Amino acid sequence: MTLRSLLEWGEGQLVLSDVPEAALCAWYLLQACFDEKLDRSRYFLRREEEVCAGTKKKYEAYIEKRSRRVPLEYITGYTEFMGLPFEVDEHVLIPRQDTETLVEIVYPMCGGERVLDLCTGSGCIGLSIGVWGKPSHLVLGDISKEALYVAQRNLKRFREGDDYRYHTPTELVRGDLFENIRGVFDWIVSNPPYIESETIPGLMPEVARFEPVTALDGGVDGLAFYREIIRQAPLYLADHGTLCFEIGHQQGRDVCALMRGRGFEKIEIRKDLAGNDRVVLGVMDRGKVECDV
Ligand code: GLN
Repeated sequence: MTLRSLLEWGEGQLVLSDVPEAALCAWYLLQACFDEKLDRSRYFLRREEEVCAGTKKKYEAYIEKRSRRVPLEYITGYTEFMGLPFEVDEHVLIPRQDTETLVEIVYPMCGGERVLDLCTGSGCIGLSIGVWGKPSHLVLGDISKEALYVAQRNLKRFREGDDYRYHTPTELVRGDLFENIRGVFDWIVSNPPYIESETIPGLMPEVARFEPVTALDGGVDGLAFYREIIRQAPLYLADHGTLCFEIGHQQGRDVCALMRGRGFEKIEIRKDLAGNDRVVLGVMDRGKVECDV
């Protein structure tokens, strides 16, 4: 079988299984079968060549998985976020472009400051702040041991690669939100699980069946994690420290109200590139916020 006929076969299978953007997926999966990068021009030069049995088998397995709606990123084990490569697996949420909104707000302002990323998952938020923002200290927290392994591997790659000049002192902490967090921070950032429990089964199959439910489920009204983080955050924020959340596009008013109720100031909602409410942030003034929990 030639490279061209293999790609055409892959696309056909994905179309039959109603996979969105079948042609693009078939191409990315073909690329992922080759160690040396198969770019478009190399493909056109080599497309009439016979494919070796090993590559064919690998591609068939990838296409079979994608036909079952396993997300592309879990098959290739990789995605990009903030222009950086992130390893992912089924224990972490796949980083979304919407989430770059939060990072774009925080990284220009946090140079030399202490940053905590709660519910870090793959580490995409905290580590990209670590690369682009140069904080003095970064803590990544998550309840899932498996997720922290992924964050750890991403950290290691940034630290050891020559491309990123990653020197931010970074710690990974396992625990339920603030459970094992020590010290105070100038920034607490989080993209916590925020989907209403009963909405999850109706989401697209890639999300509902394959992304970790613990990274999605925000309780009955989707706000459980915001409530708990907002309640405890004043104990871990420096005076005039900022709490900054990603939110679901309909949660802006509720999250602002929760932050106002706890005494946060300068509360703002920011939109993502699609014009949806995506981030809420607010500043803590120690004089005004009750710091007992
Ligand atoms: N912080 C990670 C992300 O933004 C994981 C978020 C989560 O698990 N809810 O992708």
